[in-house]
Amino acid sequence: MQVSYNKFSQHLRQTFGRRVQKLPLNAGFSCPNRDGVLSSQGCIYCGPCGAASPLLDNIATLKKQYERARQALTKKYGPCKFIAYFQAFTNTYAPVNELQKLYDEVLGWDKDNIAGLAIGTRPDCVPDEVLDLLADYAGRYYFWLELGLQSSHDRTLKLINRGHTVAQFEDAVKRARLRNLRICAHIILGLPGETREEMLKTAGFLNQQQVAAVKLHGLYVLRDTPLAAIYEQGEYEPLTFAEYISLACDFLERLSPDIIIQRLTSDPPFNSLIAPQWMLDKSKILCGIERELASRGSKQGINR
Ligand code: SF4
Repeated sequence: MQVSYNKFSQHLRQTFGRRVQKLPLNAGFSCPNRDGVLSSQGCIYCGPCGAASPLLDNIATLKKQYERARQALTKKYGPCKFIAYFQAFTNTYAPVNELQKLYDEVLGWDKDNIAGLAIGTRPDCVPDEVLDLLADYAGRYYFWLELGLQSSHDRTLKLINRGHTVAQFEDAVKRARLRNLRICAHIILGLPGETREEMLKTAGFLNQQQVAAVKLHGLYVLRDTPLAAIYEQGEYEPLTFAEYISLACDFLERLSPDIIIQRLTSDPPFNSLIAPQWMLDKSKILCGIERELASRGSKQGINR
C-alpha cells in the first residue's frame, strides 16, 4: 500500500523496533493565558481540560493516572513501551527545579517501560533555563518538545486570544533547535476568520521552521467557552467533515515529507462538545484522509 503521509506510529516502530504509545498526563499545571498573567479568559476554545484528553483528570495523583493509562494502553495494544506525555495546560510553567523534580519523579517510576518524554507547552513559556533542562533530558531519553502555535498568522492568534505571537514561536523554535530539541508544532484548521489559503500557508511556514513533527486537528466548540458564545450568536461555523478532509489533505500535500504527522484528529470531551459531532469519530476521519489522498493519487509533500 502507498505510504500517503509520514506516520508517527511508523517512526516509533522504526526507532524502537516495537510498539510505543504516548501516555498522557495532567500534572496540575496552570497556564499564563488562564491564570490572569496574560489573560484569565484563555484561548477562546479552551475548555476545563486545558486542551488535554478528556480522559485525564487532575484529581487522581500523577502516579494513579500513570498506572491507569498504562493498564488501559496495555489492554488495548498488548505489551508496549510508553512516552510519558505531559499534555494538559502548560507543562513548563513552574520554576526549573520544580519541573526537574516532577519529570524525574515520573521517569523513575517504571524505568523498564518508559521509553521517552514529551512536554507540551506554549512558545512563550520556554526560557533558556527551561530549554537547557529539556536538552538535558533529550540527551538521555527519546524526547519531544510540543509547542502550541495553531496558526502562523498573528491576526488569527489575536482573534483566538492565544496571548503570544508568531515571532515568539519562531524565537522558541530557534533556541530549541540550537539545543537539538525535536519540536512538534500543534496546528488547528478552521479557526475563525481564517481563509483556506491562510490555513495552507501555515504548512509552508512549518516547512521553513523545520519542525520535526506536526499535530493537526479541526477546531471544535466546547460548552462554556468564549467560542461557544460566538458560535451561538451565529458568528462561527465549524468545518464540515468534507471540508476538514479536503483541507487536511491539502495541508499534508504542502508539508515537507520529512515532517512526522503525530495526529490528524483530536479528543473532544463528548459531554461538553457542542459542534461538530463528526469530530468524535476518529477512525472515520483517518479513513477519510487516506481515501481522499488515494483518490487524488497524492501524498504528503507533493505540493511543497
Ligand atoms: S495555551 Fe493551552 S491551556 Fe492555555 S488557554 Fe490556550 S489552550 Fe488553554
